[in-house]
Amino acid sequence: MSIRQLTLMAVHAHPDDEATGTGGVLARYAAEGMRTVLVTCTDGRCGDGPGGVKPGDPGHDPEAVATARRAELEASCAILGVSDLEVLGYADSGMAGWSTNDVPGSFWTTPVEEAAGRLAELVDRYRPDVVVTYDANGFYGHPDHIQAHRITMAALERTGSPAKVYWTTMPHSAMAKFVEMAREAGMELPDEAPADVPEIGLPDEQITTWVDVSAYADRKFAALGAHASQEETMPFLSMGVERFAEVMGVETFVRVDEQVDAAVRETDLFAGLR
Ligand SMILES: [Zn+2]
Repeated sequence: MSIRQLTLMAVHAHPDDEATGTGGVLARYAAEGMRTVLVTCTDGRCGDGPGGVKPGDPGHDPEAVATARRAELEASCAILGVSDLEVLGYADSGMAGWSTNDVPGSFWTTPVEEAAGRLAELVDRYRPDVVVTYDANGFYGHPDHIQAHRITMAALERTGSPAKVYWTTMPHSAMAKFVEMAREAGMELPDEAPADVPEIGLPDEQITTWVDVSAYADRKFAALGAHASQEETMPFLSMGVERFAEVMGVETFVRVDEQVDAAVRETDLFAGLR
């Protein structure tokens, strides 16, 4: 009798989010023999075009951007050892308040039940033991991240999946360190976040799960490098791999289910399952 392979499923909004938020755990658990399934919900068409051209500006071709970002996503998955990439292919809705939010076919305008039904098929097919997505605020308020959260929670409920469920987060201590290092690297940052930006991350004591991914920081860095067309990867890439490993060597999560008996404070997404 063979033992079933443990499976991690990460549900992300855009090409590049898999590297930013979960590149370490994807690489680590692939190396440990787990099956790693990445579901990317949108095509990233509202990302940067060649030469950094922004959506809505002359020369920004959303279809071409989506095609380029699909290739970047596949390169990132190869670096991280993702065993199964599933793309739902919804149109990127853009940042909160952009006119692209309401375009027919955008992920944001897609009924949660409809997209959750497609994700539920994948949950039934892969039967993940661990599922990772964003919190209800999509970590920082991006409509597609919020929608990814909603469809994931709906799909898990619909399928009755017994998976351990996690939301990505950042400890406030790490965010302070990140800002400090970004400044040292020459980035200009405001002293205080603007008042209209929702507070992101969590106080350290509210974080349940701290996973050491320092041995895979170089892979995570390389996966981010695969998405180099996107300006938002620059703060990471400009640090260089050594500084990056110092700041990004631990990935943090909040465990949101109580279905598996594991310690409240964990260092392994699969704690209690192996
Ligand atoms: Zn995103």
